[in-house]
Amino acid sequence: MEEAVRLIKDSQHMVALTGAGVSQESGIPTFRGTDGLWRQYDVSRLATPDAFETNPSLVWEWYSWRIGLISECRPNRAHITLASWEHRGLLKALITQNVDGLHQAAGSKNVIEVHGSIHHVRCTVCRYRGPTPVQIEGIPVCPECRAYLRPDVVWFGEALDQSILQSVYHHLQSADVCLVIGTSGLVQPAATFPFIVKFLGGHVIEINPDRTPLTDISDVRLAGKAAETMARLDELVTGT
Ligand code: NAD
Ligand code: ZN
Repeated sequence: MEEAVRLIKDSQHMVALTGAGVSQESGIPTFRGTDGLWRQYDVSRLATPDAFETNPSLVWEWYSWRIGLISECRPNRAHITLASWEHRGLLKALITQNVDGLHQAAGSKNVIEVHGSIHHVRCTVCRYRGPTPVQIEGIPVCPECRAYLRPDVVWFGEALDQSILQSVYHHLQSADVCLVIGTSGLVQPAATFPFIVKFLGGHVIEINPDRTPLTDISDVRLAGKAAETMARLDELVTGT
């Protein structure tokens, strides 16, 4: 803990990378945890272009269930601490793989959502993008061309938006500390972000109750849950 506090206090350009684990204590299931099932489906198989092509109504049914669940969840101490560190100028960028919007709900402004957001939709045919409809019945259709809408998220097997990636790499090049919270380190290319910081001479701090492929390159490993670990770190870093 002391080493993490020292690295954070001494940093000039700290960035954070968060994954599903940061929202677990808010009540949102992760994909790879024991709760990674919905009905009898493996959820990681529903988050694919193939699943949408084969059965769009099933995929939308799952998304409406997730949207309902997320709407009842509140940011936890990990989200809140990251927002407050940004406000204090300590955290320069927050790169998240999450689509739940809880970082923004906690007050973070500079959030780079590399996998999109469940709160937005886009058309499968034209360039329409917009907010996710409040009531989802069946498969929502585009207000401009009547084609199917899909969640504006990046599914497994899809490429990330180039301009978003550029902004990520811009921050990684300057980063002297990368705080990695609640990610399995298995989803590419996000899993390579901490490696880039390390390769360029920065330090990696990992917060996760379990070991991951990123543990071996981490300078500090804090084996614990995100909210309680970040609350403790916040006390030590800011004295609050
Ligand atoms: P993952 O489900 O693959 O892994 C979650 C990781 O979090 C695991 O390493 C686990 O040990 C750790 N973890 C579990 N509980 C934790 C806690 N309380 N504190 C800290 N760590 C904890 O998640 P991933 O690496 O983000 O990759 C899955 C993909 O699925 C991502 O693309 C993500 O966008 C998406 N996803 C998003 C959400 C969300 O928006 N909340 C939820 C599930 C999956
Ligand atoms: Zn359209």
